[in-house]
Amino acid sequence: MTVGQVRGKVGLMCIRPSMKRLLIGTRRLLLASRLDRLARAATGRRHIVLTFHRVRPDGEALDSYDTCPSLPTGVFRCLLKWLKSHFEILPLEELVRTRSVSRPAAAVTFDDGWQDNFSLAYPVLRELNIPATVFVTTAKIGSYSPFWQQNLGKLFRGATAEPTSNRARDLRQVLATGSNPSFTPEAYRATVTKWKDLPIAEVDRRLSQAGWSPSENSEATRSFLSVDEIREMAREGISFGSHTVNHLILPVQPSDILSRELANSRQDLEAILGTSVTTIAYPNGDWSADVVRCAASVGYRVGCTTRHGRLTTRSASLLIPRIEPEWDCPECGDTFDARSLEWLAKW
Ligand SMILES: [Zn+2]
Repeated sequence: MTVGQVRGKVGLMCIRPSMKRLLIGTRRLLLASRLDRLARAATGRRHIVLTFHRVRPDGEALDSYDTCPSLPTGVFRCLLKWLKSHFEILPLEELVRTRSVSRPAAAVTFDDGWQDNFSLAYPVLRELNIPATVFVTTAKIGSYSPFWQQNLGKLFRGATAEPTSNRARDLRQVLATGSNPSFTPEAYRATVTKWKDLPIAEVDRRLSQAGWSPSENSEATRSFLSVDEIREMAREGISFGSHTVNHLILPVQPSDILSRELANSRQDLEAILGTSVTTIAYPNGDWSADVVRCAASVGYRVGCTTRHGRLTTRSASLLIPRIEPEWDCPECGDTFDARSLEWLAKW
């Protein structure tokens, strides 16, 4: 044995423990990342279902007296392009069925069935070849009348513009806000939140007390999708689901109304489409055990909530969480920026 050999052997003996530690550490890391991959595959925890409502023309300001979220068309297009480069975009039912896939996947949904889903969103979806599901409020198909929330918004806007008018006085009385009323967008949103659980007849009564006449319900342009638009989109691969008949808050409805809202909207849509409809989005995202039981009993297989979260293998198919990209709130304007994308990428 030469000195060199001795030195070498001693050296190797000295290195061995640290090499061993390194090897063990590396193996642990590899195992951890493999486990992480397996866990991701098993739980499908990187899947997301996005909710959209309205898409508005570029350059049109966000209406602060409207609680329905909307994105400018350019922002919507940009967001979908980004989504496509980071997620595999699948039809909702397929994603719910195959959610154990390990690659990050997303589904795109729209609530309410607004006409701009056809005129503004659909061309973008077609251009980017992105599947989507539109949840339709069937009593509103082809309607020129928006929801009561938009009508209330017009009353607030009018009262802000003319605070001494009779209508402002009437609205003040209905709101019981005293002599120093606030008709700000914040007060409007708070009123919508307060009125949401009221029976629709009571909401109508309050609106008419505040001077709203049913003849004003009709807009110059159609608010919601027509039968022809629904059929054209369906021919091109867009899926349709129910958003009930009248957009009522389901958990507070008596059982006969609840089952009518769920069953009739499904039948209405099946009659239009000529295919089976098995998806629903609960209005306002509100559900209860009775609502879910009733949805299952009338034939729905996938139900969407507005609970913020990822789709995992543990998510109940009739209680799918979703994420709404709200990037243009009245406070910060249109903020489609890197921060928003980073936030979404975390999912
Ligand atoms: Zn809705």
